[in-house]
Amino acid sequence: MPSLSPSLYDLSFTQLEKRLAEAGVNPVHLQALWGFIYRDTPASSLPPPLRRWLDQHLGEHKSFTAELPEVADEIHSADGLTRKFLLRLEDGQVIETVLMGYEGRHTVCVSSQAGCAMGCVFCATGQMGFVRDLTAGEIVAQVLHAKKVLKRYHPDARLRNLVMMGMGEPLNNYDSVLRALGTISSEKGIGIGASKITISTVGVLPGIERLTREKQPYGLAVSLHGSNQQERQALVPISQKWTLEMLMQSCREYCAATGKKIFFEWTLIDGKNDSPETAERLGKLLSGIPSHLNIIPLNPTAGYQGEASESGRRFQKIIRRSGIPCTFRQRRGIDVAAGCGMLKADKLKK
Ligand code: SAH
Ligand code: SF4
Repeated sequence: MPSLSPSLYDLSFTQLEKRLAEAGVNPVHLQALWGFIYRDTPASSLPPPLRRWLDQHLGEHKSFTAELPEVADEIHSADGLTRKFLLRLEDGQVIETVLMGYEGRHTVCVSSQAGCAMGCVFCATGQMGFVRDLTAGEIVAQVLHAKKVLKRYHPDARLRNLVMMGMGEPLNNYDSVLRALGTISSEKGIGIGASKITISTVGVLPGIERLTREKQPYGLAVSLHGSNQQERQALVPISQKWTLEMLMQSCREYCAATGKKIFFEWTLIDGKNDSPETAERLGKLLSGIPSHLNIIPLNPTAGYQGEASESGRRFQKIIRRSGIPCTFRQRRGIDVAAGCGMLKADKLKK
């Protein structure tokens, strides 16, 4: 039976400090406890007051747990460079976490919600609908799981990059996502540098505005998919509420305030958004915004087909001609790993 005690991974450094103080443990030991939780410091090397605190508070039917989610399924690409996990949370919800390793760079792709309310027509997660937000602890636990797997296959490698591009819309779960990223990016915690972390959003304006106001140190990716309102709205229903014009204005303000560029994502779909006219219009739309365009070949889902086969390179050429750096999302190994939400969708079919 899963325990329903709160997870230690939910607590920030400051919150944990408070808990220790309440229990009368000298705060000087906090760093060691954080090391035990996030950095594999063995329990045997902890100072005795901390070990006593852990004995009293950590475990089933105690104040806290520090369990990683159960692996419900796992697939990996033939070359072993992409490993995709279906993780079962305490209430039975399953989410996806992906570990990718190309040219010695290891990246984890993390989910922020079970399901998603945004309903993008080509997205398997969107087709499932929204179930619930993940807690900060559940987001942190995905990264710890990825670290554990990486250690198994590449004992000397470090997990250096993180993208919030799994299931869900991170800016619809702002507080938990940002709290989790605090732990993940902290040098005392998991230690993935803030500049190596990218939050991907479909364009939740209040969230982008908050990132701007708070000058958050993380990278921002915006899923665009359309070069004018009509084209975008057909793929991304939420753009009826937050229009393309409003989104681009928000992006400009973000860049001006943070001095950073934005990674725009473009899922390329045959006959919908892959024409030379669209590429020309997109070039103009992005002019003046420090940006990088990342083209993602469509992964066909049960409810949506339309992989563009020929048009990608032509599209890329036009974008580059307008002075915007443009790359294809690496897809090596995606043969088995598929796209966002697709392993779960596949599993449910069986
Ligand atoms: N909700 C956020 C982050 C998760 S989706 C967002 O939409 O940005 C991460 C990326 O995967 C998005 O750019 C999304 O458009 C893309 N994506 C979703 N389903 C896809 C599919 N079937 N094929 C290709 N890309 C897909
Ligand atoms: Fe949600 Fe992103 Fe999928 Fe759109 S693409 S439905 S925002 S997870």
